Amino acid sequence: MKTPENQSVLSLNTGAEIPQLGIGVFKVDDDECERVVSDALELGYRHIDTAMIYRNEAAVGRAIANSGIPRDELFVTTKIWNSDQGKDTAAAALETSLELLGLDSVDLYLIHWPAPLREKYVETWLALEELAAAGRTAAIGVSNFEPEHLENILEAGSVVPAINQVELHPAFQQRAVRHVGEPHGIITEAWGPLGQGKYDLAELPGLGDLATKHGKTIQQIVLRWHIQEGVAVFPKSVRKERMAENLDIFDFELDANDMNTMVAMDSGRRVGTHPDDGNW
Ligand code: NDP
Repeated sequence: MKTPENQSVLSLNTGAEIPQLGIGVFKVDDDECERVVSDALELGYRHIDTAMIYRNEAAVGRAIANSGIPRDELFVTTKIWNSDQGKDTAAAALETSLELLGLDSVDLYLIHWPAPLREKYVETWLALEELAAAGRTAAIGVSNFEPEHLENILEAGSVVPAINQVELHPAFQQRAVRHVGEPHGIITEAWGPLGQGKYDLAELPGLGDLATKHGKTIQQIVLRWHIQEGVAVFPKSVRKERMAENLDIFDFELDANDMNTMVAMDSGRRVGTHPDDGNW
């Protein structure tokens, strides 16, 4: 894909490229989501992260259609919900998402949660391999997979996931799961990159000083740290001025000391559900 202006891209293990920064639309209502995605596209975002369960794929699709941006300049991710997991149900779930999005294919289709008590994530993975082979999604991956879930699909499948999208923010840095994925070329995506607003970033030791040092906001420092960690990131904001702020992180660099300060913020503080418990 064409590199978005003044932004960075990562190479997936499929050979495709993904803009490293995107916009996430979790908890953005369908009636507001078209405006949110349109604002983001206008500002220069080219990567959108949605999911069937967000109930806003149609709005994302309308914003894409109205933008006039060529399809091959956009990276669109959606996810299969837990209740659609299964070898006989996955294909229909993706078709529904594609219809809502108004697209022939997505760039990335993820298993949203392993939902281990349902015992269907391995067969769902094999179904996603077929959907990728059929061209309905350019890449496939997983989300909220712990090391053991990853190992199970690596063993059963013939395609290595391109992505594992997990909760990841300064207080919860996910070194163990990233360590399992890295040798396989699995790129980590950070959900809740700003901690979902569930704790005060300003209280993290040293973050305020980094913001002062670089003349940036604490949110920009955190997002820049994600970029330099090599993860893909898609902060959610419904406010255009914050979307612009979150995009404005490609004109400075954290040095090694700054990165060490960020790494020291890891307190193992999870703000979301543990993957073993996400069996809704
Ligand atoms: P984020 O960490 O992106 O935090 C979003 C919150 O931060 C919102 O309250 C937003 O408020 C606020 N915010 C955004 N930018 C700024 C800023 N510059 N200054 C101050 N506040 C700001 O949480 P999300 O949960 O939304 O995670 C991002 C994306 O990750 C989701 O939208 C979704 O696409 C994905 N995700 C995936 C999950 C999964 O299970 N795979 C789970 C959760 C999320 P406001 O909108 O008012 O600006």
